[in-house]
Amino acid sequence: MDADALADLRAFDRAHVWHPYSSALAPGDPYVVESAEGVRLRLRDRDGRTLDVVDAMSSWWCAVHGYRVPELDAAVRGQLGAMAHVMFGGLTHAPAVDLCRRLLTLAPSGLEHVFLADSGSVSVEVAMKAALQLHLAAGERRTRFLTVRGGYHGDTFSPMSVTDPVGGMHSLFRGVLPEHVFAPRPPAGVDLPDDDPELVDWERTTRDLFSQNASDIAAVIVEPVLQGAGGMHVYPPRVLDVLHDLAREHGALVIHDEIATGFHRTGPLWAGDRAQGAPDILCVGKALTGGYLTLAAMLCTREVAEGVSRSEAGGLMHGPTFMANPLACAVANANLDLLATRDTVAEVTRIESGLREGLSPAADLESVVDVRVLGAVGVVQLREPVRVAEVTAAALARGVWVRPFRDLVYTMPPYVTDEDDLAVVTSGLVGAVADVHG
Ligand SMILES: *Cc1c(COP(=O)(O)O)cnc(C)c1O
Repeated sequence: MDADALADLRAFDRAHVWHPYSSALAPGDPYVVESAEGVRLRLRDRDGRTLDVVDAMSSWWCAVHGYRVPELDAAVRGQLGAMAHVMFGGLTHAPAVDLCRRLLTLAPSGLEHVFLADSGSVSVEVAMKAALQLHLAAGERRTRFLTVRGGYHGDTFSPMSVTDPVGGMHSLFRGVLPEHVFAPRPPAGVDLPDDDPELVDWERTTRDLFSQNASDIAAVIVEPVLQGAGGMHVYPPRVLDVLHDLAREHGALVIHDEIATGFHRTGPLWAGDRAQGAPDILCVGKALTGGYLTLAAMLCTREVAEGVSRSEAGGLMHGPTFMANPLACAVANANLDLLATRDTVAEVTRIESGLREGLSPAADLESVVDVRVLGAVGVVQLREPVRVAEVTAAALARGVWVRPFRDLVYTMPPYVTDEDDLAVVTSGLVGAVADVHG
């Protein structure tokens, strides 16, 4: 792209194009990506210079194999030769059925039905709708969900209503968002012993809260073990066991939102594998297509599927236009093949130790309060909100693309990031924090 075309693109973008959570009055100044390959993005900076930088974000947790992956490219091309899209009402096709079959093989035990949705938020909408319909069919008006503070479940209204009430958008949409039941944020640390006083305290409070609202609660919804966009908070699996037991005791369902944590991001295939009980409903998305196309899924047990189908409506009342898009399903199948044929657990374990070692110097910085790593997720938490534009620029100067939020500079690199590139990521993050925040 020549200098004039680049300037024109950026000017139109600033004047007319929304970006995530952006302001039309104070638009950001995004970098232009020209292409991506392997773990690198090719960016043009404000002066028109070309930068080849390591993507520390996997494009928001999705691109687990990096970019222009030959097997994934081939899957999309192959599917284009048959059909790009057809409606899913009254029709079905091999890419979708193959994908559902694979997902059920991979899913926690007991899940037998799959609803293919077009984004993570929609899969959460569908999960919540299914829980409501199930109880309605059983003649119970349970209309509330219980979750823990600090979560994130998406930006459409139902997911937003169970996202953290302080960090989320509850005050902005008061009166429009339904008010659900929020247990405290679980204490930090994946290895916290069961008798840790803070954990015992959390358990008592949550137990009380649950019993006070028991007859209203349709389901518990949580991100297992790692809360992502709500604050990159890691908590002990014991929390899931407690919530599972309470749900069973009070006739509520358990929904695991593994949209961010699924497909080995935290180590095991599902973050919820660390817990004893399996969920009644599972949501997956993000890495499902290896970052190629938008696709998500809601999986549920036979009991849930049959219960929902006994409701007055006679079925699960959802049907997106682009449900089960064949291109997306085909690339998801190729992605699941890659995850199975590559030793993904070993890759994530290797990245985990690389992140531990590479990010540890950040703990000595004045500006840093905590450094934590779980699987292929590394987090540096500051004492103050990150100066995002400055840290981004400092990281780019060190060869890394990173997108901090709130007080967090974090990475979840593609699983294929090799040792040298991982060192670029960790030293880039630590260096950028040191440059900007000290
Ligand atoms: C990203 C995310 C969602 C929303 O997915 P979209 O595809 O952005 O709609 C929901 N839940 C969790 C845990 C997520 O990380």
